[in-house]
Amino acid sequence: MSNSILVVEDEPEIREMLRYSLEIEGFDTREAGDCHEAEKLIAKRTPDLILLDWMLPNISGIKFAKRLKKNELTKDIPIIMLTAKAEEENKVKGLETGADDYVTKPFSPRELIARIRTVLRRGPMTSPDGIVKIGALEINNDSRNVQVNKQVVDFSPIEYKLLYFLATHPERVYSREQLLTFVWGGETYIDERTVDVQILRLRKILAKHGSEPLIHTVHGVGYKFMEKK
Ligand code: CA
Repeated sequence: MSNSILVVEDEPEIREMLRYSLEIEGFDTREAGDCHEAEKLIAKRTPDLILLDWMLPNISGIKFAKRLKKNELTKDIPIIMLTAKAEEENKVKGLETGADDYVTKPFSPRELIARIRTVLRRGPMTSPDGIVKIGALEINNDSRNVQVNKQVVDFSPIEYKLLYFLATHPERVYSREQLLTFVWGGETYIDERTVDVQILRLRKILAKHGSEPLIHTVHGVGYKFMEKK
């Protein structure tokens, strides 16, 4: 069955462009012009992913994303936020919206489709029992138990947080600044070098327990979590 995507966007031209690009790729697409309409559509059928515009009439995309993430029935639906400028994108990132990804307008349909596929791929990696498995690594987020090659390994709280974030957001590059925002919660007194130090520690621990390298450096950009295939 094809994945269903709900587009929430108030500008008809962008909505039409999105629907066109998505349908070409075989996605089952539904559209809403505001959050109220979106809610009705979600109640009828839970989409596999929501493309959510930030600037919407009445209820903003951010508010709506927060509301969806608080609701037990909708909290697991991945959300990609659409923002008008890089500046907005940064602001959205700083706010804890619970969105899974952000795309800045104008974007190329090809880029958007790639992001959608990445976000959708993440889904099945967490099994229903809340366990994330990548390579030799196995994380149970309920019990905070981490195993590498079937051996229980201890991590400090911040190491755990960073590892869990990376493992649940694979195949995407994150800058040090983004990791500080997502993992450390944007505490401004923390230096970006802290990220490097923690990454180095994680790599050492993983390697010590026989894991292949999972955290890759993307020079001049940041880090990427990826299993070699
Ligand atoms: Ca808009």
